[in-house]
Amino acid sequence: MSLYQKFCEWGTDAKFVPHGKKCDLCGNSIGFLNTGFWSVNAKWLRDGVICDRCCKKLALLSKFSTKWIPRDLRKESPFNALAKNAWHTLCVKEAKTVLESPEKLAKEELAAIGPEYTSAFRTKDACFIEPTALQVGVVRAKKLNNKLVLSGFVQLGEFKKGDSVLILDGKERREATVLEAYIYDPDVPENDLEVMLKANMGKQRLSQWQQGWLVLDNEEKVGGSTMVIA
Ligand SMILES: [Zn+2]
Repeated sequence: MSLYQKFCEWGTDAKFVPHGKKCDLCGNSIGFLNTGFWSVNAKWLRDGVICDRCCKKLALLSKFSTKWIPRDLRKESPFNALAKNAWHTLCVKEAKTVLESPEKLAKEELAAIGPEYTSAFRTKDACFIEPTALQVGVVRAKKLNNKLVLSGFVQLGEFKKGDSVLILDGKERREATVLEAYIYDPDVPENDLEVMLKANMGKQRLSQWQQGWLVLDNEEKVGGSTMVIA
């Protein structure tokens, strides 16, 4: 994103806040242009100001719909605002609840499966890849051909190449290994899976709240609400 684009963004949906103002959610200072006058990349909730990082988390959760939120809460405030991508209508207290949910829910779900599981990856999309030798080299092309790739975000813990994981596909459970792992940076959308596969060896470590792709040694289709745990 160019600096000009950034300024346009600030101009439309950001507000000036006094210098030194802290994020009402996480307590970090707001803005990186703390020049002594104001901070410009703050976003507003109904009754507070939040930093860029918290804002990105809320936007991320709204993108992932509300599948991971318990069914009976989905239609209730504050979760319904997320579903409509209207997280800025939340108040600070509601936003706090929302941001604590992924970790809390993941811990509950993992505890029900087994104490050895400490990481959870929530998926949004799945696809199969067929990279050519020209794109990724002969060895990797062979290894990655027809393999399942899940895109999503890390709800808890971390994921990296070589991890033994369990794919939870509805009631089905399948063991797999992470062949490669890639971070997706929403600020650089042009770095999509294809670009990352070509440029990298999949040795990135995905940590909590990070979006990305897991390439798994699996060739079976998965359903909509798949989760990967380790
Ligand atoms: Zn914050």
